[in-house]
Amino acid sequence: MIAYLEFEHFVHGNDTESSPNDDVSSLQTSFHFAPNSIATKDFGGMKSSNPLAVIRPYSTADVARAVKAAATTANLTVAARGNGHSINGQAMAEKGLVLDMRATAEEHFQLLYLEGVPYVDVSGGALWEEVLKRCVSQFQLVPRSWTDYLGLTVGGTLSNAGVSGQTFRYGPQTANVTELEVVNGKGESLVCSENQNSELFFASLGGLGQFGIITRARIILQQAPDMVRWIRVIYSEFEDFTKDAEWLVTLPEGDGFDYVEGFVVVKNDDPCNGWPTIPMGSNQTFNPVRIPSSAGPVLYCLELALHYRKTSRSSDVDTKVDRLLGGLRFVEGVKFEDDVKYVDFLLRVKRVEEDAKAKGIWDAPHPWLNMFVSKSDIADFDREVFKKILNSGVGGPILVYPLLRSKWDDRHSVVVPDSNIFYIIALLRFIPPPPKGPPTDKLVAQNNAIIQLCYNKGFNFKLYLPHYLTQENWKRHFGDKWNRFVQRKHNFDPLAILAPGQKIFSRNQLQ
Ligand code: FAD
Repeated sequence: MIAYLEFEHFVHGNDTESSPNDDVSSLQTSFHFAPNSIATKDFGGMKSSNPLAVIRPYSTADVARAVKAAATTANLTVAARGNGHSINGQAMAEKGLVLDMRATAEEHFQLLYLEGVPYVDVSGGALWEEVLKRCVSQFQLVPRSWTDYLGLTVGGTLSNAGVSGQTFRYGPQTANVTELEVVNGKGESLVCSENQNSELFFASLGGLGQFGIITRARIILQQAPDMVRWIRVIYSEFEDFTKDAEWLVTLPEGDGFDYVEGFVVVKNDDPCNGWPTIPMGSNQTFNPVRIPSSAGPVLYCLELALHYRKTSRSSDVDTKVDRLLGGLRFVEGVKFEDDVKYVDFLLRVKRVEEDAKAKGIWDAPHPWLNMFVSKSDIADFDREVFKKILNSGVGGPILVYPLLRSKWDDRHSVVVPDSNIFYIIALLRFIPPPPKGPPTDKLVAQNNAIIQLCYNKGFNFKLYLPHYLTQENWKRHFGDKWNRFVQRKHNFDPLAILAPGQKIFSRNQLQ
């Protein structure tokens, strides 16, 4: 039986009800849980857990009540669950309370102007897709910094960073928020910003859910573009690819593209990783004859986008695009372009989701790996990893594109390599489950081998969406920021109630 606690009434799996003031500890005996409840699994599909209860909070006050109840119950932990798109059980709570933050999605949605700048207050449990659609339809305004896929919650990505092709310009999503409402590990609900409860504000951004549950975020907006010129160009040489990508991300706003990403393509007709993945429309085809015979086992695709208004003259858009592309070294003639609505561009991965669901690989295990590698080590990474270990692909996109260190705020909890430019690498495996696909353990082992190689070679790198099983490894991950992280935990969640699925701290006994 699955038990959902709603704050109006506690609904038992057998449909009997109890009073909302029941002591949480009594739930242990009253509730039984089905193994297939949403909170027992995540997108990674490799971990499972059995929570004590899944709670649907409808307000910040509900969230605070749940955390307070856990604080007064020995050993009880609380995991906020966004949309459960973690890979390694980060939003799970074994024998703890899981708060289904999606239930709070409607609590906040308000436009405001501060000194002439537009902002929107949204709920921590809102999906970015919902934020996009509501902001465009109601205000013709949009957030500036996105993730590639928008079926993620505001609180979930702000607890990590939130990275996409706009990050080079505006920083990660965490750098585009000016105020949060957070329920800390003592069950206190606090508004925080750079000037108010600032330590909690900085701690929560990229804080892996360790310091508080984000119930509201204030996000900077900009005018919504109408259209996007979406472009892909192909490189046979990694050096040309990185030089061009780094040049593009350092151009001042207004002079360059509005979106810069890149990915690795296997040099064959593999439908998941090969050149069929390059064209954006069914009317486009990739003709490999233009690829020089000197090319290695993989190719590189630079993906670019330029925003424009419906009222812009198409000749102006063409001129700007031609000027920018004219400075690039991609393989001559291997260029794909499309003009799409801005909203459709941002929702492009939703089509991948629909396709993967139809093929039964959306719900299969996803042994993904995400990392940041400094510019100084990226050529070696290409030589050792892309060209050798991954030269047959990963069964899905392999992302690689540069980000600027200056756009990341050191006061936030997330850690990135100390390097002016570093690359995000993402191995987004979409593999049919065994026996059709390879064993998941083998792919996890390949990820671990890549991480180990980075350590052995002394690369300057950090895992993104990190996952470690020992505190020693977490200590190494945070490096000189570890003491600050521990101090923040002590200040804001002294009993270590929150986000136990990250496996950084153990729940302290009541003192
Ligand atoms: P969950 O997985 O539910 O939670 C993640 C962590 O945050 C957990 O520890 C949880 O306890 C905590 N948490 C959740 N909500 C809150 C809250 N309100 N307050 C405090 N803590 C909270 N990431 C990128 O940066 N860029 C991308 O382009 C990108 N694309 C992705 C595409 C797909 C298909 C998938 C599956 C993931 C992608 N991600 C991307 C990764 C994604 O940002 C993280 O996995 C994120 O944690 C998922 O968000 P979620 O809302 O599902 O959070």
